[in-house]
Amino acid sequence: MAGESYPGFLPPFKRFATHAIHVGQEPDQWSSWAVVPPITLSTIFKQEEPEKNKGYEYTRFGNPNRHVLETVAAALDGAKHCLAYSSGMGAILNICHLLKTGDKIVCTVDVYGGARELFEKIKEEFNLKVHYIDCTDLQKLEAAITPETKLVWLESPTNPTLKVIDIQACADVAHRKQKGVLVAVDNSFMSPYFQRPLSLGADICMSSATKYMNGHSDVLLGLVSVNRDDLYERLKFLQIRLGAVPSPFDCYMCNRGLKTLHIRMKLHFHNGLAVAKFLETHPRVEKVIYPGLSSHPQYSVVLKQCTGVSGMVSFYIKGEKENAVAFLKNLKVFTLAFSLGSYESLAEHPATMTHASVPEEERKALGITDTLIRLSVGLEDEEDLIKDLDQALEAAVSEEFPSRNNPQPTFSSSQMDPGLWI
Ligand SMILES: *Cc1c(COP(=O)(O)O)cnc(C)c1O
Repeated sequence: MAGESYPGFLPPFKRFATHAIHVGQEPDQWSSWAVVPPITLSTIFKQEEPEKNKGYEYTRFGNPNRHVLETVAAALDGAKHCLAYSSGMGAILNICHLLKTGDKIVCTVDVYGGARELFEKIKEEFNLKVHYIDCTDLQKLEAAITPETKLVWLESPTNPTLKVIDIQACADVAHRKQKGVLVAVDNSFMSPYFQRPLSLGADICMSSATKYMNGHSDVLLGLVSVNRDDLYERLKFLQIRLGAVPSPFDCYMCNRGLKTLHIRMKLHFHNGLAVAKFLETHPRVEKVIYPGLSSHPQYSVVLKQCTGVSGMVSFYIKGEKENAVAFLKNLKVFTLAFSLGSYESLAEHPATMTHASVPEEERKALGITDTLIRLSVGLEDEEDLIKDLDQALEAAVSEEFPSRNNPQPTFSSSQMDPGLWI
């Protein structure tokens, strides 16, 4: 059951659950033999004599809770090294510090809004170049990579239109065109349970663990995994000197969240697919985007690079902005809020919330219209989620919406390929 595979997808990563529960957690590393890692709040550690210590000196340099988290997270990412940061943005900023004036970032177009805002800011102030391109088009990617390109920034699926990028193909193109270019993937939407960018040729896997990895909407934390020792050393230097390190308590909490990552991700997939299939047949819905549906334009890439998909579902509601707003206001089980990847279901309006800072013209070109809604499907009962969406879609219908008189869809759980989930 723990290593259950989904037909057509990559097989699950071996020993994922056992690693999540045991790697880095050995009780005999503490004098108490506590099974659950104790929280070490002390910022300072005693030295036996100068330059002789038990591996810790000062908590910014290293802390037992951070060490536990980095060790287990590296195992889950299939990586040699992992570094933890006080937030996903802190992690991205540290990666940016690998660059210098004149360098160029090639970035996928519909990237996380915060990353884009940061790239735009440092572009001006540090004289970097940033080139946004649609990385589903490998020729565009190849053309964008020049000798100045030092970092290729990918996200898959993208946010909020859930385009899937072929990570292996992009990494191959980038490395072939420009030796030494760093290919980084923001893996926040997938978690290592469903996607391992390093095994697909990326140099850097970055995650906002605030999302699926912690999974309980109560910790802000970033993770960066790498295999290359030199890259690890450079990033380790920056982690300590920039100082954007997570607190011992947050490391403890995230480490705790990882123990159930495999179970949560399976249910996110199950509920996400159920919601996507329901929306796909609903007369008030224009279009559904879900990487787990065979109607997704890059479904074949999904199958070859993922072991499954998460609970992120985007869709266009029929009508105007008012209909989208009415839908969001009427939700009862889903909460209207930023963020994603936690046990509770969330809904948001990218055009006015997460992607409000993207210029309107570009938003249109990306498909971030006023009728686009992004869902983070959580772990509640499938029937309750679907009933909630159904009633909110009904409530969102306005006068200029004559389709109200159309036959009502009847939803039955038999539409959901129960056989797939055994
Ligand atoms: C949330 C998020 C981030 C930023 O992470 P924080 O932990 O909020 O700093 C980066 N990338 C993606 C895809 C995200 O969803």
